Amino acid sequence: MRAHAATRPARRPDRSVRRRVRATAECVCAVVAALLLGVSAAPAGQGGSGLIVNVTHRARALHPGEIVVLNVRTSEAPASLGATAFGAEIRFFPAGPANVWSALIGIDLEVEPGEHAVAVRATGVDGSLSETDYTLAVEPKQFATRRLRVEPRYVDPPPEVVERILRERDQQAALFPVSTAVRYWRGGFLRPVPGRANSAFGRRSVFNGQPRSPHSGADFRAGTGTPIKAPNDGVVVLAADLYFSGNVVIIDHGWGLYSYFAHLSAIDVAEGDRVRKGMVVGKVGATGRVTGAHLHWTVRLNDARVDPLALLELFPAEGGR
Ligand SMILES: [Zn+2]
Repeated sequence: MRAHAATRPARRPDRSVRRRVRATAECVCAVVAALLLGVSAAPAGQGGSGLIVNVTHRARALHPGEIVVLNVRTSEAPASLGATAFGAEIRFFPAGPANVWSALIGIDLEVEPGEHAVAVRATGVDGSLSETDYTLAVEPKQFATRRLRVEPRYVDPPPEVVERILRERDQQAALFPVSTAVRYWRGGFLRPVPGRANSAFGRRSVFNGQPRSPHSGADFRAGTGTPIKAPNDGVVVLAADLYFSGNVVIIDHGWGLYSYFAHLSAIDVAEGDRVRKGMVVGKVGATGRVTGAHLHWTVRLNDARVDPLALLELFPAEGGR
């Protein structure tokens, strides 16, 4: 673990405190040193030095396609708390103990390795602003290539379906950047089907010898007809038959988090339906561009393509709830 802190000139020297911390560890990384340096750089009692903000994170790894849980502890209850990461506004939820909050950050599959700043802003009840730059050092990851054979119409689509493909692409592209103001998800995430995931997230895909976009989900072994459970609460925002993905259900879990299930044999929900964790939303199938029956699950977090297995590991469902 390496962590250091440096205080920059504040934009509002009398009211604002800015700290900079860096984290490279692959797991929880307490920045106590930063906290201490921050205190000495901005001693209390100098006309409102702002909240003391301690930032840590939890993740399987800092790679493209991973989810980071950012944890923020403040010296007192803040009037407001927010952050920006990878160009997206991040929302915080209470993490349990008083003055401790968490937020989810998605590192997109194609984020450039290197240092990426997370800007945390905490406003005290006295109006003082504390800004902390927390650096995520994203390390490169090599993804393997998988070669698959599918029906030729899924590699070289006939001209009459091109318009449909473009329409469906735009429809999906418009969904994921929307961060719904309500957080529907609570607690751990359920495995949607019992089977193991059999295809690594992020693999470069070559269909019938032609390269296509990287695999941005996890594929679970499951036979046709296996019920698919909602991994958490949400609202169904798409339930449709798409050219490449076959029968699809997309659940908006709120706050920029989406589940996308593809290749279903049956859809058991409709757009606008409110779903609860564990509710069956459809059945496993082999519709669309597939080599056989399986469940494809994509997770989008603030438009970033992240590994669903990271969500299951960081927020495991306890006792099936
Ligand atoms: Zn897949």
